[in-house]
Order: sequence, then structure tokens, then C-alpha cells
Amino acid sequence: MSAVTTCGTLVIGGGFYGCAIALALAERGKDVLVIEKEVDLLTRASFRNQARVHGGYHYPRSVLTAMRSRVNLPRWVEDYRACVVDEFEQCYAIARRFSKVSAAQFARFMDHVGAPLTPAPARLRRLFNDILVEDAFLVREHAFDAAKLREMMRARLDKARVPVKTGVEALRIGENLLVETNEGPVQASEVFLCAYSGVNTILEASGLPHIRLKHELAELALIEMPEELRQLGVTVMCGPFFSFMPFPARGCHSLSHVRYTPHASWQDAAPADVLRTPRVSNFPLMLADARRFVPALARSRQLDSLWEIKTVLPASETDDSRPILFQRHWGRPNLHCVLGAKIDNIFDVLTECAALG
Ligand SMILES: Cc1cc2nc3c(=O)[nH]c(=O)nc-3n(C[C@H](O)[C@H](O)[C@H](O)COP(=O)(O)OP(=O)(O)OC[C@H]3O[C@@H](n4cnc5c(N)ncnc54)[C@H](O)[C@@H]3O)c2cc1C
Repeated sequence: MSAVTTCGTLVIGGGFYGCAIALALAERGKDVLVIEKEVDLLTRASFRNQARVHGGYHYPRSVLTAMRSRVNLPRWVEDYRACVVDEFEQCYAIARRFSKVSAAQFARFMDHVGAPLTPAPARLRRLFNDILVEDAFLVREHAFDAAKLREMMRARLDKARVPVKTGVEALRIGENLLVETNEGPVQASEVFLCAYSGVNTILEASGLPHIRLKHELAELALIEMPEELRQLGVTVMCGPFFSFMPFPARGCHSLSHVRYTPHASWQDAAPADVLRTPRVSNFPLMLADARRFVPALARSRQLDSLWEIKTVLPASETDDSRPILFQRHWGRPNLHCVLGAKIDNIFDVLTECAALG
């Protein structure tokens, strides 16, 4: 029988959230251990995402989400500056038909939440098919380099002397927070479950109630852009449209489409093998639609696709908001479940952690 490892606080999941929480707790003098089932930190959703540091523009139907982004964005840029990429123009275009907001409503909303925008200059407007696009705005929004973020989090954890065990999967959280793993048991006095799409898998195996979550099997196409789109990100709002923006960790762009990025969706538990099933890329469908709006996209080329399970709260369905989930003492004393929804929400999560004492 394996020896029991002991620690004060066990963080399950070495994504951006698990790492940032572990660091904050270690700074407060806690004895923290991070376990991560993959071979490295930040390989899952924290790498396989669109790399947008949200400035609120994506959420013109949720005042709270847009406002929190306005507050969190400058802090994120300051704390993670070495990962921030801003040498590109970010453009939000409003579709003439099927958009849930008009250009005037979009501009009014952004004014209300203090998110500056300017009319896109003529050289950018010429890139759009104006039969389909009502208006376009230039905003200041950043991308992040997820590979640099991984290096940064690893270095910070090393410096803070927080032990990290990769290749270690939490299988079950028992009574008194004895956690079974594939490498033997870990006894903790406090557990933060930061497993994102894997949260309910662990809760279910532990005989604990599910958290209501919605999962999507998401495909982000990685593409090489034609010259005139290389220094540009475009998001077409606000409905069944698309966005492309730089993906610095691979030196290319990502393309996602509201209709074609999700390949499947389901509630609550995550089927374990969904990422291993062979899939056919939806890139041709994404491109066929997106090039109608931005004709130059026809000369883009698919390099690869990133596949990930995207997990959101069911409440996000109605207004596309991205609130955090922070469930204290979920089914067991001192077991806390966390879901960040987007990376700049980390400060809201850390506020909740601090309130725990
Ligand atoms: C397609 C897509 C696009 C997105 N675009 C953006 C965007 O542009 N901007 C933005 O801010 N946010 C975006 N997000 C959301 C963002 O990626 C997530 O909010 C964030 O990465 C979540 O971080 P995390 O640490 O909670 O999750 P993860 O990075 O997934 O970390 C969870 C970790 O837990 C580990 N784990 C799971 N189960 C176990 C277990 N049993 N034992 C041990 N370890 C376990 C996993 O291996 C994983 O490393 C996007 C997400 C997706 C999927």
C-alpha cells in the first residue's frame, strides 16, 4: 500500500486557475500541493482557448460581465505583462442581420460600461462586406501567449516553493479529505477543486452532488492569415458569427465560429474519452461563412485545430455572461470548487479565496 502524502491545502488541477490559487494561498503562508493529471501545467483549457484578454466588448448583453472585465483587464495586463501581446488591431464589427445588438446599441452599451471604442478607419472597413456588416469599431484589447503564461506560472510556483506533481490524477475525494490518486493517497485539510471540465467527474466518483454545468466539445481552427489580416483581430457580433485573432503561442491566428466551433454539447458530467474520439474539422464550414463577411479570409490556410471541452454555467446561456463559480464546502467541509470562465476573472476568484480566511 502507498504511503500517504500530507499537505495543508491540495489544489487539484494545474491550469491557470489552480496555479494562481496555489500561489495566492502560498503567499498567505499555507502549505500547498498542486496535482495535475497531464504531463505539464496549463496544457488544457488554459492553453487551448482563444487567448483573448477580455475588455468587455464580447459581452454587450451582460453589464456585470462587461464591467468586471473593465476592472480586471488592467490588473491582468499588469500582473502578467510578459505574456501580453498587443501589437495588433482589434476590431469589433456588427452584423446587419441576425445580430442581437445593433451598432448603435453596441456603442451605447460600451459607453455605459466605460469601454472606449472608435469608428474603424476606412482601410479596415474596406476589408468587410458592407452588405453584411453594419458598422465596425476599433478597440484596445489584448491577446496572451499561453506558452509564456505556462512558463511564468511554473517559475512563480518554483520561486514560492510550491510543490507540483504532474501526471497525478485525483480519482476520488473521500471523507475527511483523503484524496485517492493514481499515485497513492493524499491527506489534506483543505481542497480546491480546479479541474474545470473535469469537476463533475471527480465529484461523481466521490459520491458528491454534481454542479450544474454545460460542456461543449469546442474546435478552434489555427490558421495562417494572408498578409493584410496578419496584424488584425476581428469579432463579428452578436449572434451566430465568428472571430479570429492572433494566437501568440503558435505564431498564427485562431478562428472560432459560434455555430461551427461546438461539435457537441451536454450537461453536468464530462464523458472521459470525448477528446480522444477522432473528429472531422469544421474549418471548411467556418471559413465558408466567415469569408462572406471578410473576403480576404478566403486566402487563409488551416494549420491545425485545437480541441477542448468548454465549460460554462447554464446561466450563461441566456445572456452569454461569464460569471465565476465558487462553491464553498461542496459536500464536504473545506472542499471548494472553482470555475473561472475566462482568465481575467482570476481576481474575482482570489477575492473569494481570501474571504475564506
Ligand atoms: C475553446 C475555448 C475558448 C476560450 N477562449 C477564451 C478567451 O479567449 N479568453 C478567456 O479569458 N477565456 C477563454 N476561455 C476560457 C478559459 O480557457 C478558461 O476559463 C480557463 O482556461 C480555465 O482555467 P482552469 O485552470 O480552470 O482550467 P484548465 O486549464 O482546463 O485546468 C484544469 C486542469 O485540471 C486538470 N485536471 C482535471 N481533472 C483532474 C484530476 N482528476 N486530477 C488532476 N488534475 C485534473 C486538467 O488536466 C487541467 O490541466 C476559453 C475556453 C475554451 C475551451
